Amino acid sequence: MLPADNPFATPSDLPYEVPPFDRITEEHYLPAFRAGMAEQRAEVDAVISQEGEPTFADTLVALERSGRLLQRVSLAFFNLSGADTNPRLQEIETEIAPELAAHSDAIFLDKRLYARVKSLYDRRDSLGLDPESSWLLERYHTDFVRAGAQLSDEDASRLREYNAELASLCTSFSNQLLADTNDSAVVVTDAAELAGLSEDAIAAAREAARSRGIDGYALTLILPTAQPALASLSDRGARERIFKASVVRGARSNDNDTADLVRRIVKLRAERARLLGYPHHAAYQIEDNTARTADAAAGMLAKLAPAAVANAEAELADLQAVVDAEGGGFTVEPWDWAYYTEKVRKQRYDIDEAQLRPYFELERVLIDGVFYAATQLYGLGFAERHDLPVYHPEVRVFEVFNEDGTALGLFYADFYTRDSKRGGAWMNSLVTQSHLFGTKPIVVNNLNINKPPAGEPTLLTLDEVRTMFHEFGHALHGLFSNVRYPRFTGTRVPRDFVEFPSQVNEVWILWPQVLANYATHHETGERLPQEIVDRLQEAAKFNEGFATTEYLAASLLDLAWHTLTVEDLAADGLLDDVQAFEADALTKAGVAVAAVPPRYRTTYFAHIFTGASYSAGYYSYIWSEVLDADTVEWFKENGGLRRENGDTFRTALLSRGGTADALSFFRAFRGRDPQIEPLLVRRGLDR
Ligand SMILES: [Zn+2]
Repeated sequence: MLPADNPFATPSDLPYEVPPFDRITEEHYLPAFRAGMAEQRAEVDAVISQEGEPTFADTLVALERSGRLLQRVSLAFFNLSGADTNPRLQEIETEIAPELAAHSDAIFLDKRLYARVKSLYDRRDSLGLDPESSWLLERYHTDFVRAGAQLSDEDASRLREYNAELASLCTSFSNQLLADTNDSAVVVTDAAELAGLSEDAIAAAREAARSRGIDGYALTLILPTAQPALASLSDRGARERIFKASVVRGARSNDNDTADLVRRIVKLRAERARLLGYPHHAAYQIEDNTARTADAAAGMLAKLAPAAVANAEAELADLQAVVDAEGGGFTVEPWDWAYYTEKVRKQRYDIDEAQLRPYFELERVLIDGVFYAATQLYGLGFAERHDLPVYHPEVRVFEVFNEDGTALGLFYADFYTRDSKRGGAWMNSLVTQSHLFGTKPIVVNNLNINKPPAGEPTLLTLDEVRTMFHEFGHALHGLFSNVRYPRFTGTRVPRDFVEFPSQVNEVWILWPQVLANYATHHETGERLPQEIVDRLQEAAKFNEGFATTEYLAASLLDLAWHTLTVEDLAADGLLDDVQAFEADALTKAGVAVAAVPPRYRTTYFAHIFTGASYSAGYYSYIWSEVLDADTVEWFKENGGLRRENGDTFRTALLSRGGTADALSFFRAFRGRDPQIEPLLVRRGLDR
């Protein structure tokens, strides 16, 4: 039993069941996790020990109702461990990860429980279930089978060992990568080396150095290979240092080297897949996605690769021409790419990324851009609340309302970077929507934007604007959730489908009516001039060869690691050199372009090694983009930013969570299967 003074002991009595962060301390988590697991175990035992033929209500609905305490503490904890961790939270995570894996296994490998689910599944046509309940039964049966419910006792116990060890390894990868990324910040003492960097980027670097207790400037790294400073630093040596610091992360043969973790994770995943009856981890993962097979995913990537690489090579030739015209006397290296790309962009389209930033002030982008588009489409209203406890002073809370004034949920915005936050951008939930419990959603958007010195406005890059719209697309998917069962709430859809709504939301960034509303100069209030807007539209395909190639390279690398079979891995020397395996995989896939390294290299590929969900799943972004580009066509065909369109998209798709086969939602409003052409045109691959 959890002591009553532990804030997780009872549902929060705050509005929307907001976690009482003002009362939660680090020492509350472990006892709450353990009490939560014990509580759910007891609830599951009660399900199993019932007499008579299982019913849908006494088995599946009862399972859906179980584990509420565990859910409360998990959502609060994992949001915090991603957004604002510390050594104590990392210890807790390391300790609890294998216990959680074992707890889940204890449920899904319980033969008596599986027998009840199977009994219902075998009688599914005579149970008179409504569609959502029927799909719940279908999904539970699949979940049990995929989790190993049909294994012998001996195999099941091996599976438990694999799962527990994998959970620990992935936690270690996450913690070591964060530490190495922080340690890899590039320190510059001579301000001359920062020539070209904007004043506020220099101020941020000075601030980062100060917070580390060092003199000079610290250029902190973001998660992907390409670092923002490379676009503006004119000192080639400084660029090279930053690039090399970025790509060597996790591979520096120090305490935070991740190569050993990669080797072990890959091996265990292959063995687990074998145990469950699959040739490799990718087959296991992708079966449960809309792509269905690793071949389908790889085939799509392979189809796009030649055109993408050809475009990247043409872009490279343009960059080399600039270098040569300037009498540079060197070959373009990866650390030169962004810098010369900006020069070409400026020459060709007269667009200077740095000059855009004054028009992209964070507050305007959020309120007059992101929220405005949601109001035009869905009729949403937003009101900031200052009365609810947050886990960090930088977090802001907005209450979200439907057009008729009814409450929809809460939106937490946590936009600034800090050393305690993992890299990248993501959405997660603090409370999920479910009619079974009568809960409304609380969603969080996490970004990593540099914080300006006190009193200065936060000016965004176009890329950061894109990230803000993107993550809010996920937030809408969570907020609009209108489902009965927690199993289907919000973004609980296949991995290669979940990026689709978030990508669709990016279309509003340059949509004239939206852009005109938010892109105003933070000092003069002047609108972003129409000629610049026109040129931004014209430049939409600029540098897409690079962007597509670096993305495809990472996706193909992910599949290369996860299509290895147990036999492959037994071959001598295959895993001795992680970098060599990587180079070989990129060459074989036809995406080895020296000047265009993969968006993530193996030792800092957090998507695929810090947790299970994106492993063999990085292909999902472009897979979802097919649906996205086709949906954008649908919006355009139907008049764009209109309430009717928003309502249709919301009703047919955004509100449905995982309550049916995902592609059926797409077909419902598009009236046909997805087509790939809009994506090819968008990325300049249609030749
Ligand atoms: Zn996303």
